[in-house]
Amino acid sequence: MNENKSHKAVCPAIPELLVPAGNYEKLVTAVHYGADAIYLGGKDFSLRAKAGNFSENAMQAGLDYAHRHGVKVYITANIIAHNRDFSELDEYLLGLEKLGVDGLIISDPGILRRAQAVVPSLPIHLSTQANVTNSGSAAFWFEQGASRLNLARELSLKEITEIREENRGELEVFVHGALCISYSGRCMLSNYLTGRDANQGSCAHPCRYSYSLVEEKRPGEFFPVEEDERGTYIFNSKDLCLLEKLPQLVAAGVDSLKIEGRMKSIFYVGGVVRIYRAALDYLATLPAEAWADPEEIRLPEHLLMEIARTGTRGQTENFIIDRPGSAEMLYNHTRLDQEWEPVAVVRRVEEDVLVELRNPLELGDEIEYMGRDDRNYPLTVRTMTNEKGEEISRGNPGNRLFLQTEPPLAELAEEVAILRRQKR
Ligand code: SF4
Repeated sequence: MNENKSHKAVCPAIPELLVPAGNYEKLVTAVHYGADAIYLGGKDFSLRAKAGNFSENAMQAGLDYAHRHGVKVYITANIIAHNRDFSELDEYLLGLEKLGVDGLIISDPGILRRAQAVVPSLPIHLSTQANVTNSGSAAFWFEQGASRLNLARELSLKEITEIREENRGELEVFVHGALCISYSGRCMLSNYLTGRDANQGSCAHPCRYSYSLVEEKRPGEFFPVEEDERGTYIFNSKDLCLLEKLPQLVAAGVDSLKIEGRMKSIFYVGGVVRIYRAALDYLATLPAEAWADPEEIRLPEHLLMEIARTGTRGQTENFIIDRPGSAEMLYNHTRLDQEWEPVAVVRRVEEDVLVELRNPLELGDEIEYMGRDDRNYPLTVRTMTNEKGEEISRGNPGNRLFLQTEPPLAELAEEVAILRRQKR
């Protein structure tokens, strides 16, 4: 964690940057681009059942990789549990302790109780699904043994500050990613419409579906309630982005800033993490005087432009200043057009650079190397050679190629880094 040593007494501590990983590749990407900590789910007891949760072997490999790079790993066990869910819980928790995980993310009091009994040494972080919205609720959960609370996403900065002032334990706040239209994920829409339980990790995201109106005496006749010919997405929230509010969140004394998205791509994970990392590193350089009025601190403009390139449904600051209104919803489509797309991931850096393609690539294409910091490096593709040593003029997704560019990629490439381009 960064600190401005010359003004240590008055500069606020820079919070942990906590990043999702739906699989090993995403974990490695998150570490590369600057995560302080990763959260991931095991095969059991975790929401986001479709997120490609980790098997025990993959989890061990991920933990080893993260710990080698000084990054912590927290495991989600945040389902709303039924009695049938407890039969294998103790064994699972003991397994996590043996693997060396750094904490558990829990929302169900029954699971919390078992964790305290079975693995008392493991810190417990309360999941956002527990809906902590006030100081008393925070105090209650700290008294129950949680060391950290992920606060509900429905809080304002003022409320977060009050909870901070009235409680001593660690506070974590979501700063970026998809939002639910229900209270921090407590939602039955998916259960009713698809039979898939959001609170058991199987949400089908029906809040993003397109809806029509049906009059009860005329079944089968669908009346459009539409903003345009594609329909109306009445429950579809824009995505959270609190990048511009980081100075105030840091000044408020939040301990951890969490990014949502275990189901998102490595392009998204890498792109978002490096911008939040750059923003926090920038804040860490500010002198003490700057913190006299955190509202006046402005992040470098290019960071705000870059975050929009990661692909979102539009940006909202949700409840952080005011209650969200209709401007915070997307009524006519599920996703904004993404102007940038991933091209390849660097797999090996020796004399030549081996990349794995994610989209088609041709000679002469203009691409960009996404630096570990907030910089992008424009490149032109000059030659492509497959692993048999044959020169080719076009590569397809999944191909592994040696790539020569102008200027030379080999001079800046690091394994795991991402290449991207503006969509044609
Ligand atoms: S349906 Fe939408 S609002 Fe409900 S839990 Fe799923 S993602 Fe959240």
